[in-house]
Amino acid sequence: MKAAYFKEHGGSDKIVYGDYKDPVADGQHAVVRVRACALNQVDMLLLDGRFPPPEGLPHVNGCEVAGTLEGLDKGVGWLEPGQRVVVFPGFSCGTCEFCLRGERTVCLRYGYLGAHKDGGYAELVRVPAANCLALPEAISFEAGAALPLAFLTSWHALVAKAELKPGQTVLVQAAGSGVGSAAIQIARLMGARVMTTVGSDDKIAFAKSLGAEHVVNYRTQDFVEEARTWTAKRGVDVVVEHIGGETLERSTYALTRLGTLVSIGSHDTHWGRLDLRHVYSKNLRIVGTNLGSIVELRTILDYVADGRLRAVVDRAFPLKDARAAVQYVLDRKNKGKVLVIP
Ligand SMILES: [Zn+2]
Repeated sequence: MKAAYFKEHGGSDKIVYGDYKDPVADGQHAVVRVRACALNQVDMLLLDGRFPPPEGLPHVNGCEVAGTLEGLDKGVGWLEPGQRVVVFPGFSCGTCEFCLRGERTVCLRYGYLGAHKDGGYAELVRVPAANCLALPEAISFEAGAALPLAFLTSWHALVAKAELKPGQTVLVQAAGSGVGSAAIQIARLMGARVMTTVGSDDKIAFAKSLGAEHVVNYRTQDFVEEARTWTAKRGVDVVVEHIGGETLERSTYALTRLGTLVSIGSHDTHWGRLDLRHVYSKNLRIVGTNLGSIVELRTILDYVADGRLRAVVDRAFPLKDARAAVQYVLDRKNKGKVLVIP
């Protein structure tokens, strides 16, 4: 098969499009013919070596895949060859303490499609059969590929972790990102009010179209001051944070008493410091989360199929142009998801 892979760490120029070993199905794994694969920030960390692929190089990135079932073993009876599927990207063992508690995203042997195994920047990808969900006809492959990581992470962060309530106020960092564009919609669906940040004025209308009430250009405005003004000096109830560094620290200043910061990524830096006086005196909750459950992904598919949530696809590149697609994301040009199409 053809794939876009890398043999050494670095920038987008390290991505090579060419022949790659064909994946093989077995009793527990299916092979999916990739019809669309979305790019993520984690791809960039894998590529530049900040999060080196655990199985070493060469490596194929791509954790969000929609496609059709191709290779299939007789052991997986509920799946049909040719069926449209979207792939739940998390792998878990099912037997460790945390899996047995129903908390599979903190499995001791947790892994991601496209990180711990080769992913979807390819014509074919091997995935655990149990991770395949039927993709409703109402959802295109392109939209389906834009859902599994960004929507699921934001859903779990807001609904399960922050326990968002109608009428609460939410600050979503980086509306232009996949998780940001999903979090704005999910918070609105839950009946919350949303403010968000963008890095350029041309993303303001985009952020408002997703349902954000107040949009702040973080390069020219102070989002902490804006949050105070927007909430009549109260502060927001919830922050969805995935940038790290100073943004993490300042996000806690934007929170009201008893507020919750949900950390779902570290796209600028893995590090951040906190003024602990804010944390204890305001009784803040700082909660980490990654991904969510298969059931939550199925719920999201239902909402997208009936139009109450929408996948936000900015651009699709042919797989052979994966290098340009990656550079587009690295340059932060995207408003929503960027895809590669084999
Ligand atoms: Zn486990």
